[in-house]
Amino acid sequence: MGNVVIIAGMKEILEMKNHYGNFLVDKTPPGSVFAAKTPACMVTAYKSGKVMFQGKDSEKEAGRWGGTTATAPPATAKGKPSAAKGDLPAGIGGMSVIGSDEVGTGDFFGPITVVAAYVKKEQIPLLKELGVRDSKDLNDEKIVEIAKVIKDVVPFSLITLKNEKYNQVQQSGMSQGKMKAILHNQAILNVLGKIAPSKPEAILIDQFVQASTYFQHVKGQKAIAKENVYFSTKAEGIHLAVAAASILARYAFIQYIDKLSEAAGFKIPKGAGAQVDVAAAKLILNKGREVLPSFVKLHFANTDKAMAIVNKKR
Ligand code: MN
Repeated sequence: MGNVVIIAGMKEILEMKNHYGNFLVDKTPPGSVFAAKTPACMVTAYKSGKVMFQGKDSEKEAGRWGGTTATAPPATAKGKPSAAKGDLPAGIGGMSVIGSDEVGTGDFFGPITVVAAYVKKEQIPLLKELGVRDSKDLNDEKIVEIAKVIKDVVPFSLITLKNEKYNQVQQSGMSQGKMKAILHNQAILNVLGKIAPSKPEAILIDQFVQASTYFQHVKGQKAIAKENVYFSTKAEGIHLAVAAASILARYAFIQYIDKLSEAAGFKIPKGAGAQVDVAAAKLILNKGREVLPSFVKLHFANTDKAMAIVNKKR
């Protein structure tokens, strides 16, 4: 029994809303995106990125997403996220930083791509000049254009968790939160290896879970980057290294979706809305149900919705 809070991106929150579609409640607290009352617990997601799970199975239910076991402060909309911006070193925006971010966690089709990128303080003006900024303000065309330039400018590591592997790991019981933590840790270690003997002044991870939970997730890993590691939500706006990482991760994701589109023979949509249900149904009708695991994240509610469309057409 208890309250558990995880931090999620808006895409993931919308995926959660989709997932809890049958349990949504009409009355939602101020500042919230949705509230759902499931048999396991009450779920409330806020625009701030906080998602609160309250009730007997809150830990288990939260584990499905972020896998946290931390107990949250009293259940108010004002409860403060674990790593407030105040916990960051002063002036971090102007330091030499490894930033990391991931893409694809809320998309039914396609992999998860995680990128860690190192931006030295001297490079910050150049990256600004090249148009690096919060990738949410950039369309795909612009992302590709900027990524093609910065991939030769900043040392980075890209890790792609392909759908086949994602589904395998997910079915073995690993939460998406743990997958993300392991991928971030690996990408960061790769970059640390690339830039050695130089060291970053800070490592900034775009926050998806409380810091304590992150480190719990990576516990079993052979090596763990933990020196000067910081977490913040909306970290893209705090240091350009995270913005660069985000752009490179989105670039990789876009390229992968292009590959999937080619394999499917039609344009694969992003996201987790009704359009992906229709596309998945089309894929199943054209190529068979057995190709699905290499295209989608099977545990999304979209799989059943796609099957329902297929069954209606057959
Ligand atoms: Mn992020």
